[in-house]
Amino acid sequence: MKPVRVRAPKGARVFEVHWADGYVGKIPHELLRGYCPCAGCQGHAGTIKFVSGGDLELEAITPVGNYALSMSWGDGHASGIYSFKYLRSLSEMAEKLEAEPESKRPRLARG
Ligand SMILES: [Zn+2]
Repeated sequence: MKPVRVRAPKGARVFEVHWADGYVGKIPHELLRGYCPCAGCQGHAGTIKFVSGGDLELEAITPVGNYALSMSWGDGHASGIYSFKYLRSLSEMAEKLEAEPESKRPRLARG
């Protein structure tokens, strides 16, 4: 499954990702950043936890090979590589995750 289009207008706080099957995912920046899968945010644990804090201005979205997108944030953090599979599950869970209090946001599987 691949994204066909992403939208993250300057100043917006929601990342929108359109998928090849017509599904449109909306991921608040807070979740996209908080569930950053990079080793700096996650250590080397197998699952991905929500980490609060960090700048929420999405500066750049860069394709990585044919399997992932890299997110670059306003504070220079740019080591998160979001595989399409991981991004898709984050898209599908975003609404549910947003409703959870920060302390109860669950760990997610890596894509
Ligand atoms: Zn990170």
